[in-house]
Amino acid sequence: MTEKIVVSGVSVDTRHWIGGRRVASAETFTDSSPIDGQPIGEIARGGPPEAAAAVAAARDAFPSWAATPRAERARILHAIADGVDKRVEELAIVETTDNGALLRSHRHGVMPRVAHNFRFFADWLLRLDHEDFDTRGHRNHVSWDPAGPCVLITPWNAPLMLATWKVAPALAAGNTVVLKPAEWSPLTASLLADIAAEAGLPAGVFNVVQGYGAEVGDALTSHPDVRRISFTGSVPTASRIAASAAANLTPLSLELGGKSPLLVFADADLELAVDLAVEQYDNAGQVCLAGTRLLVEESVAEEFTRRFVARADALRQGDPRDEATDIGPNIHPRQLEKIDGFVRRAVDAGARAVIGGHRRDGQFYAPTLLTDVAQDSEVVQEEVFGPVLTLQTFADEDEAVRLANDTRFGLAATLATGDPERAERVTAALVAGTVWVNCFFVRDLQAPFGGSRLSGVGREGGTWSFDFYCDLKNTVTAPKGWKDHG
Ligand code: NAD
Repeated sequence: MTEKIVVSGVSVDTRHWIGGRRVASAETFTDSSPIDGQPIGEIARGGPPEAAAAVAAARDAFPSWAATPRAERARILHAIADGVDKRVEELAIVETTDNGALLRSHRHGVMPRVAHNFRFFADWLLRLDHEDFDTRGHRNHVSWDPAGPCVLITPWNAPLMLATWKVAPALAAGNTVVLKPAEWSPLTASLLADIAAEAGLPAGVFNVVQGYGAEVGDALTSHPDVRRISFTGSVPTASRIAASAAANLTPLSLELGGKSPLLVFADADLELAVDLAVEQYDNAGQVCLAGTRLLVEESVAEEFTRRFVARADALRQGDPRDEATDIGPNIHPRQLEKIDGFVRRAVDAGARAVIGGHRRDGQFYAPTLLTDVAQDSEVVQEEVFGPVLTLQTFADEDEAVRLANDTRFGLAATLATGDPERAERVTAALVAGTVWVNCFFVRDLQAPFGGSRLSGVGREGGTWSFDFYCDLKNTVTAPKGWKDHG
């Protein structure tokens, strides 16, 4: 296999990164660009031996990294962040070539945010504290101990961003890591390995194993030396991982899919509501948090739809490297098939495509709005993960809440309303890990992030990340001279 490929001018190593060395595999898989469907390169295709080698490397490196003072770990994480900052342009173009998301958003938003992930969790670790408390003169002290090797498995829709939400707190906590990036977008994980090594992260602390989930996954998730598994991806894969992890009762964090509602009340600023709705097409609809179910109060539905269609029609779909593009391609021909299948079946069942409803040349799907959809229909109940929104109307607040909560998911919800009291009432009644009121996608790393119901298990962010990646320990110390007389 070719060890290095040049992707849009950037050299990327196609091998795994295990124990501080590049490791090839006998087999490879082809990584293609969604922009033109052309192959980018042949990537090392790991299996159980590579998984075992990576976990062994992480296990061997663990004692020394766990014993490294927090401030020193934090210093190295800051150095990784600096390395990301220096390579923002390279990371941005490689990510865009690999997964088709907009270059301008990688350049100005996502990659700076990747650097922030490292700085934030490095700094949060240093502040991590729980006030000591007293039990009959005995001091209780809570500490966050490193847990051990962590397996982190990530999807393709925001590859480096989602990976580093996990890598940064796991490393800061004193754990070692095996990262398995998605096979449709593996390249920036390889660049991150280079950056981490340059920043002085010791060998074996961070490892990358590439390959198909079905081939490499089980060997990672059933390994008895693995102390944590953090997964972002789909519900069916999460079930497989949970079954695989069950033998060792390895703790799991699961960030899964969604079918989030966007509720528009008649008292909303309608222009803002339309802005929020059109935003749901971002990343060609491949966003777990997307509010794909537009629920609009009957009295404003016609006006809302008219304005929405005008705005959506003006969206520019095309090459994601072009600064003027609003919507890029979808990730893979298989994903396009899947999206089109959802739309075909919905239309066959009586839905009306107000806009879109079809593929475009290349790997593009036209932004689509479906009306006349039944609440129990597949397109309302299941995640499409493409630029497909449904619109339903409601008569009053009770019906809005009932429709909003009536799926198996509970990741997020967005409300557009001019009435703060209504916002409070509706928010309290919604099942969702995040609720945005008159805004969307604002996310602070100190906030808990995750989903309810099938959208996930656990929360990441701030202290919640460290609660997951650490073994919490409570130490009870008796006062001097104290004797237990039973
Ligand atoms: P996926 O479940 O198909 O794959 C995710 C990862 O799991 C990939 O790296 C894949 O190789 C790996 N994998 C597959 N089978 C495996 C197995 N048996 N064992 C171990 N690993 C295995 O998901 P996807 O299509 O890559 O991503 C899209 C999904 O991710 C959507 O459902 C989306 O909503 C969800 N997502 C959720 C969040 C969140 O934070 N809640 C964020 C982004 C994406």
